Amino acid sequence: MTNISFSELGVTEPLRRALRAENYISPTPIQVRAIPLLLAGKDLLGIAQTGTGKTAAFALPILRRLSEKRAPAGPRATRALILAPTRELAIQIGDSFKTYGRHLALRHAVVFGGVGQQPQVKALARGVDTLVATPGRLLDLIGQGHIRLDRVSFLVLDEADRMLDMGFIRDVRKIIKALPRQRQSLLFSATMPTDVERLAGEILRDPGRIEISPKAITVDRVDQRVFFVESANKRALLAKLLGDPGLARVIVFTRTKHGANRVAQQLDRAGTAAEALHGNKSQSARQRALERFRTGQARVLVATDIAARGIDVDGVTHVINYELPNEPESYVHRVGRTARAGAAGSALSFCDPAEQAYLRAIERLTKRPLAVVSGQPSHRRAAPDSRAPSHVPATRSAPSKRRRRFRGAPKRRAA
Ligand code: AMP
Repeated sequence: MTNISFSELGVTEPLRRALRAENYISPTPIQVRAIPLLLAGKDLLGIAQTGTGKTAAFALPILRRLSEKRAPAGPRATRALILAPTRELAIQIGDSFKTYGRHLALRHAVVFGGVGQQPQVKALARGVDTLVATPGRLLDLIGQGHIRLDRVSFLVLDEADRMLDMGFIRDVRKIIKALPRQRQSLLFSATMPTDVERLAGEILRDPGRIEISPKAITVDRVDQRVFFVESANKRALLAKLLGDPGLARVIVFTRTKHGANRVAQQLDRAGTAAEALHGNKSQSARQRALERFRTGQARVLVATDIAARGIDVDGVTHVINYELPNEPESYVHRVGRTARAGAAGSALSFCDPAEQAYLRAIERLTKRPLAVVSGQPSHRRAAPDSRAPSHVPATRSAPSKRRRRFRGAPKRRAA
């Protein structure tokens, strides 16, 4: 959080009133840097992940400018187009536009695949000012003549790296071709691989560049620890940790959909209400799972990386990496699910011997060795400082020591 106020950034009163109702006291760093730049009409390349407040960073200036610009004559046509890779993210961005813009006379719609298109077509027919869309469904609807993009003056590509990972590049290019050349364009991405850099070069003109480094996010706000554990003992370790009511709202990450189902079932059978979230579930099943988690009916959400992108649930107390991700950037995304918008959070990683290379890649990216927890059930010889309560595990921070210990170094102290 910062000392500057939303009003100093140029956020107008109707928007500020909505922010007050949401308890946004002061802007986040990305908002401080992005809002003035966007109000000045500049293109933007934002290297930032979900959890930094980036949605408001682009939604607030877009809403202000749309509310001040007179809509073109004729039926209302989309003036701001926001592309997002997943339905969940699209829905969340759509909700944010509605929330922040509730005192403005603007209309908003969200379109995404995996559900019937009729309600979306109906909403579009009434005319909208902002449209949040996943690329595939948007192209379908354009093809059927339900959407006109010739009045678009704002384009946002959100989570561009994930968009390209998911194979949307051709769709995105087609959509961009259908837009007027005269427009303000924004691209957000958590990482900057070359194909995203190239896409940014194609669509942005002389952009301002804002980078909110994952390092700042993971280092400053999330307490991160690692358990070295044999793969066969992870289940017992998870059960033990969940014995602590301090783990009140937990997202458990697995690498595979199958793994997510298995862990959720095991937890459920053991009496911990859990929901699995992954790409094999229907849209309605995913929404149901998220809703149960959001409302606290399910204490644990077991998710894969793609399904979890863009999940915005407040008050996630712990992220547990049941399996470490093979891409270190995913670790940063996972950890970003907790400690959102300044709250404290905790991330616990289970690392089995086969995952140590992943752990090293993560530590290289975050430039910070994870603190090692001792005294977990998989280690018969716990270290002496293992008497801390289980939600505040005792730690060691010397990575070289712990690796030796884990490989079975001869000299160990018994608990
Ligand atoms: P985002 O990165 O856009 O997904 O935002 C992450 C979370 O932070 C969301 O739950 C937002 O509602 C919240 N948020 C965004 N900006 C602020 C702010 N200035 N103050 C408090 N919460 C915020």
